[in-house]
Amino acid sequence: MYRHLFGPIRSRRLGVSLGIDLTPGKTCSFNCVYCECGRTLVLTDERREYVPTEEVIAELKSYLSTHPRLDSITFSGSGEPTLHNGIGNIIAFLKDEFPSYRVTVLTNSSLLHREEVRADLARADLVIPSLDAVSEEAFLRLNRPFHGLTAALMIEGIRTFCENFSGAVWLEVFIVPGVNDTPSEITTLRETIRTLRVDKVQLNTLDRPGAVSWVEPVSPERLRELASMLGPNVEIISSGRGATPVYTGLKEARERLISELRNHSRSVAELEHTLKLPRDEIVSILQQLMDEDRVRVFRDERGILYQAWD
Ligand code: SF4
Repeated sequence: MYRHLFGPIRSRRLGVSLGIDLTPGKTCSFNCVYCECGRTLVLTDERREYVPTEEVIAELKSYLSTHPRLDSITFSGSGEPTLHNGIGNIIAFLKDEFPSYRVTVLTNSSLLHREEVRADLARADLVIPSLDAVSEEAFLRLNRPFHGLTAALMIEGIRTFCENFSGAVWLEVFIVPGVNDTPSEITTLRETIRTLRVDKVQLNTLDRPGAVSWVEPVSPERLRELASMLGPNVEIISSGRGATPVYTGLKEARERLISELRNHSRSVAELEHTLKLPRDEIVSILQQLMDEDRVRVFRDERGILYQAWD
């Protein structure tokens, strides 16, 4: 059983991808309105060892020694991976011991203005930073960052990172209608993206319910229109299905989850292992149960745990 690895999952962008979660329990520097993992539970910009680095490395060593066929080992999970101050050591371990695997980091870009974070990511093969808005107003509305983080800081971080990074960079832009798809937002995004040394731009929109109910998906036609407005090297990565309700067909999973939490306190990774459900669905169900006051969250030496009230 692995506490810090998940999958492998078949990812639209990355192929067969083994996930690494360094910030369990939704620890992030943002609280994005569209976040499919629900609302951020620990909003912070503090870098620290959220889970033991050596434990993550031991799990990777054990898993990869079986030589699994993977297209990517991906730092993603339910929060912002660059908040973990051991990410550089873990990437170095992977590149030293298992160099044939592609290492990918998904980041919200909030810490790329810090030199030590850029140094930590230097040996990754692919980095996918996000940039949803150039105006501070749209940035605050969409990403709801930890105080002090600004769009200008993010853009400066992405720019400096791209200038010094030797791997590939795919910039992800998440479109929320009425916020960052207005003519002025798209124009400033296009002008800013032109100045960044990225290999391509990927446009995304809601495929599952976000953290707040007012966020709507963009239609496939509108996404195509926005892609052509943003520039030549833009691809659409949304499935085009729109937001499908998480609970369709998952009533049974919800009941199993409640019953599991009645008897034990469990982390997201433990629930994922026991229930054999995708992490984002577990997180979404937990979020709804917390909103209904049926589940409480707390922290102990095992990390962030969930328990049913009734
Ligand atoms: S979408 Fe990413 S950056 Fe935004 S709150 Fe969720 S995990 Fe954090």
